[in-house]
Amino acid sequence: MSEDQFEQENASAAAYDSADTTNQPHESTANSTWSRMLAGNRRFAEGKPEHPWQDTTTRESLIDRQNPDAAVLSCSDSRVPPEIVFDAGLGDLFTVRTAGQILDDAVIASLEYAVVKLHVSLLVVLGHEGCGAIDMAAHELDDMIAATTDNAAGSLEAADAIDDLDERIAEAESIVLRSVGMSVWQARQAELDAHEDFERVHVAHTIEELVTRSEVIQDALAHDQLMIVGARYQLSTGKVEVLSF
Ligand SMILES: [Zn+2]
Repeated sequence: MSEDQFEQENASAAAYDSADTTNQPHESTANSTWSRMLAGNRRFAEGKPEHPWQDTTTRESLIDRQNPDAAVLSCSDSRVPPEIVFDAGLGDLFTVRTAGQILDDAVIASLEYAVVKLHVSLLVVLGHEGCGAIDMAAHELDDMIAATTDNAAGSLEAADAIDDLDERIAEAESIVLRSVGMSVWQARQAELDAHEDFERVHVAHTIEELVTRSEVIQDALAHDQLMIVGARYQLSTGKVEVLSF
C-alpha cells in the first residue's frame, strides 16, 4: 500500500460510521480467533510448529486482498515476532511493533486502520519477559527519583516524597521514560516490584491509553465489533501468558 493510499484510507477511518453493521464481527469470532492463536502458540512452545499459510498458493491468493483475523501490538524485540510465536501465516495477523509497544499517533492510526478497514475483531497487546524498554524505563525512573531527592537508592519512600512525580514522568525528555515510566511507577506504588510485574502492568496501561486516545477503538468496543486482550510472551518457555485485569 502506498503512503497516499494509507493516508486516504486512514482519513476515512477517522470518519468511521459506528452505525455501519455491514461487516460486524461478533464476540464469538474474536474468541475463536484468540483460541486459534493460543493453539498456534502451544504448537510453537512445544516445538511442533506447522508454519501454516506460508506457501506460494497462499501468497498468490492474497495479492489483491487481505483479511487478517487479528491485530497485534507488540514489542519490536527480535525474539518476539508475533507470526512465529503464534505459528501464524501470511494474511493472518496485522502487526504493529515498537520498543516496549509504546503508543504514538502512527501506532494508533495503524491499529484504527486494522479495525475499520480490515475489520479485525481481535486486538492483542503483547508484552514480554525480559523487555529492554521496560528495564530502561525502570532505571531512568530510579535516576529521576534519585536526582530529585538526592537519594542514591531511588527508593519508593523517596519517590513518595515527590509531589509532582507523575508530571515529571509525563514531561520527561526520554520517550521511553515518558511512555513506560508511568507503568513502572504504578506497579511500584502497588508494591509490585518485579520486572515481570512492570511488564504486566505496562500491557494493562497500554490498553487503557489506547482506548482513551482512540475514539474509533472506543466505538468498535461499544458496538461489540472488537475485543482487546492483553498477554505476555515468556522467552523462557515460549508460551504466551494471558493477562486478566
Ligand atoms: Zn521489549
